[in-house]
Amino acid sequence: MKTSYKAMQVSRPGVLELVERPVPRPGAGEVLIQVQACGVCGADAADIEKAAPAAQPPRVPGHEVVGRIVALGAGTPGIWALGQRVGVGRLGGHCGECVQCRQGRFQLCLNQPVVGSTRDGGYAEMMLARSTGLVAIPDELSSEEAAPILCAGIATFNALKKCGAQAGDTVAILGIGGLGHMALQYARRMGLHVVAIGRGADIAADALALGAHVYIDNRAEDAAARLQALGGAQAIVTMIDHAETVSALLAGLAPEGRLVVLNPGKGPLQVPAGLLVGGQRGILGSITGTPYDNEKALSFSVLVDVRPRIEVMPLEQAGEAYRRLKTGDVKYRMVLTMGHA
Ligand SMILES: [Zn+2]
Ligand SMILES: [Zn+2]
Repeated sequence: MKTSYKAMQVSRPGVLELVERPVPRPGAGEVLIQVQACGVCGADAADIEKAAPAAQPPRVPGHEVVGRIVALGAGTPGIWALGQRVGVGRLGGHCGECVQCRQGRFQLCLNQPVVGSTRDGGYAEMMLARSTGLVAIPDELSSEEAAPILCAGIATFNALKKCGAQAGDTVAILGIGGLGHMALQYARRMGLHVVAIGRGADIAADALALGAHVYIDNRAEDAAARLQALGGAQAIVTMIDHAETVSALLAGLAPEGRLVVLNPGKGPLQVPAGLLVGGQRGILGSITGTPYDNEKALSFSVLVDVRPRIEVMPLEQAGEAYRRLKTGDVKYRMVLTMGHA
């Protein structure tokens, strides 16, 4: 095996630098992965812009990682084998000991590394990972297709499962980008009546092709009133960071309806409490999920033929990929590839 590998690290805030690093050995309970593909996610922006090289070594971003296991650390469970194709998402592996883990809520583990933020991620040819964070990748998916499912896919898949809407109910998807385009496909195939809400008319045809039954242009019409005219939404799943737009849409929820929030947003959410009390409506936050949940998202994607729409760029062009993400020039998802099969 090679003794060094290429990585794109955040040497100072906002700047990705191509470096050569010595190949590490996996510690106890860890594996070494030869990375094949890594998605570029909106959450990478905070990791890259807010990096604090003084507080921790220069970080490698990226948390939608797919590759092959090339070395196993001591005590790695027998379900993981050399050569196996695995993935790692944002949550880097639970500890198994904290009060949340003891209740089986591994996604809420108190000692869980955040991949690409508190430990190195997948903008690299090699990456160490905790075995508790590993996800098995089905053969039907290429590494490039599987990568975005590990964050954008599972985030929306789990949100839809938790949102309380049943087959036949109306669900609104607010924000038709990297996350929203996955949510539309999943929601349609879960048997929901799918309303896509976006900005402008140019995305309408795409939204309908991805699975929406109805498209609402939030700039041109009152989306909450349209939802009420459709009988109200049993659930609204929002991916956008604009708090005022999310707050305004709450009036479109049916009684007992839920707003599911996937984006921490830039400002506090204003909530008319009367709307919650009167109709017993609720608001719920949702993060990605456990590796087991992630395997369900992958297998559902295979079963019902959901795929992310991706653009692919080589690892060395991560800086350019990131620049395009920041300027809104990536329509759905961008994936970096490392040239390894
Ligand atoms: Zn992400
Ligand atoms: Zn834990």
